[in-house]
Amino acid sequence: MLYYSTNKKADKATLQEAVVKGLASDKGLFMPEVIKHLPDSFFNNMKDMSFQEIAYVVADAFFGEDVDAESLKKIVYETLNFDVPLVHVNDNIYSLELYHGPTLAFKDVGGRFMSRLLGYFIKKQGEKDVNVLVATSGDTGSAVANGFLGVDGIRVFVLYPKGKVSKIQECQFTTLGQNITALEIDGTFDDCQALVKNAFMDADLNNHMKLTSANSINVARFLPQAFYYFYAYAQLQKLGKDKNVVICVPSGNFGNITAGLFGKKMGLPISRFIAANNKNDIFLQYLISGVYSPRPSVTTIANAMDVGDPSNFARVLELYGESHEDISKEISGCSYNDEQIKETVKETFKKTGYLLDPHGAVGYRALTEHLKSDEVGVFLETAHPAKFLDTVEEIIEQEVEIPQKLQEFMKGEKKSIELSKDFETFKEFLLKA
Ligand SMILES: *Cc1c(COP(=O)(O)O)cnc(C)c1O
Repeated sequence: MLYYSTNKKADKATLQEAVVKGLASDKGLFMPEVIKHLPDSFFNNMKDMSFQEIAYVVADAFFGEDVDAESLKKIVYETLNFDVPLVHVNDNIYSLELYHGPTLAFKDVGGRFMSRLLGYFIKKQGEKDVNVLVATSGDTGSAVANGFLGVDGIRVFVLYPKGKVSKIQECQFTTLGQNITALEIDGTFDDCQALVKNAFMDADLNNHMKLTSANSINVARFLPQAFYYFYAYAQLQKLGKDKNVVICVPSGNFGNITAGLFGKKMGLPISRFIAANNKNDIFLQYLISGVYSPRPSVTTIANAMDVGDPSNFARVLELYGESHEDISKEISGCSYNDEQIKETVKETFKKTGYLLDPHGAVGYRALTEHLKSDEVGVFLETAHPAKFLDTVEEIIEQEVEIPQKLQEFMKGEKKSIELSKDFETFKEFLLKA
């Protein structure tokens, strides 16, 4: 399968090139040339298949031409060695809990898949000394760093905005050591993302070292996120709740929802999507006005979604032939401020006993307000509430139990390197690293 750039000015790339480069040379995002439609027999039998079995069928459609079957199966089965349960919350609303992986956030799926796929290309195809740059608003850093920890031939640089990620999140990528370096940037997430994007475009740096991105701009990071949309549907089938399914995705960089949109193109019967935003509502404004106007992000308590210029918007446009009308038919948007998020976490916990994290809360609230009576809603619960401990405990005025996996991270010693958001400083650092 070849991958083209959303900017259409770069040469087409193989999967290996797309994964190793991350971003196309014209700054566009890679898109697979073909999105395969899966057979009816698959959709009819999904309810009797395991998460891994379902994921392998989807992975084969994406990557089967470029990775031998045995290796691909191994990558899928190793990546997805945890459950993604669909939990009933209220009325016709279900939570797809994506946080049962090693760092308790949905990014474990893409992070682990990508590290293994890159590992495959390094081993089999002789790629070597790849440097992974990853900008994080909180969860990407930990998922990617943990996925890549100790992998031979790969160094990871995690860029995160100083003081803008939760303590627990910070522990998950600053305490690892080995091939993982944490860079604490005096700026916002958008500044971190800009540094990474500029590094890819810098000729000196690229002559000096092989750079790639593990953000959702990388096809190996974002496409595997389609797996759990299929599995969610399979679980609804089992419950006999698979008609008029609406999936609501708490969104920041729009990688997660884009993977779901790919699923729909492959035939997954989802009737529509809701992109739920915090105050950073660039997508909602686009839906309303038809004009995409990125703007600097503002800080919220759902910090992993504090994104002012969602990179995967280009892929959404591409999927719908840039038609605002078609996009608006399948995706709606909404935006909630911190007060509304807090209220939702608090009220939902009181009424149903279900504890939301601030990101999932945005998704849940959108469904309570916008789901029609004949629809079934699933929101993606993107992280475990304990990852936002202080915020959540303050809201529910109760202690939250910290899962063992998270406690382990908190024991380590924080090591990070502070840098300004100035590109030249960052470049100097990489040239010497
Ligand atoms: C990354 C993240 C999001 C946003 O996902 P995108 O793919 O960037 O839209 C939402 N919630 C949590 C907890 C995250 O870590």
